[in-house]
Amino acid sequence: MLRFGLFDLDDTLYAAQSGLWTAIGDRIDRYLVEKVGLPADGVREQRRAWFEEYGTTLNGLRAERHVDSADYLAFVHDLPLDDYLQPNPALDAMLARLPVEKVIFTNADAPHALRVLDRLGVGRHFQAVFDIQALAFVNKPEPRAYQFVLDHLGAAGPECFFVDDAPRNLQPARMLGMHTILISPAPVSARLARVDAVIDNILGLEAVVTQSGKLTPAVLPPAAGLS
Ligand SMILES: [Mg+2]
Repeated sequence: MLRFGLFDLDDTLYAAQSGLWTAIGDRIDRYLVEKVGLPADGVREQRRAWFEEYGTTLNGLRAERHVDSADYLAFVHDLPLDDYLQPNPALDAMLARLPVEKVIFTNADAPHALRVLDRLGVGRHFQAVFDIQALAFVNKPEPRAYQFVLDHLGAAGPECFFVDDAPRNLQPARMLGMHTILISPAPVSARLARVDAVIDNILGLEAVVTQSGKLTPAVLPPAAGLS
């Protein structure tokens, strides 16, 4: 039976079309040019290389350039969230109906996560934020990150679902027995993506976790006009 819901943050709780994650990426590029001194035309390639080898640009910077992680995290997340995100009452209502303990599991940092949750108006639903600091920079898709979260929750993998927009982040969760849900605005086969379900936005979550038979849907009040 599902008891816990683990949620990625960026491009999962809000849609990629918001442009926020792209804007964060642009700030990462700026950081690499302005603060680290990389040539602008080599930044994207370097980020890709660090992403492959270390999981995040930050871990590449920590390993090879010894940057101050707090300085980096503050710089890349220094954006006016209100320009990108709107309160999401439908998400708030859906989360209220899901009878599981909910936590954020993100490679970003908690101050950013809390600002996003606040802007979306859904912070009240989440009992914990497992962020890059809490994970001691051992981040997704490193299997130890997932085990850390399970241990902290006192949960077994099959008691959890995990929703993320990155297929590679879902594979370690699957190996631990979690119910895996991929967010993909483009059509993707769940079988090919090696996940249990694919949804095109977070509001589709309720249907797939209840249809899985592992979660009893909350009883909804009668629709207005029918009572
Ligand atoms: Mg994401």
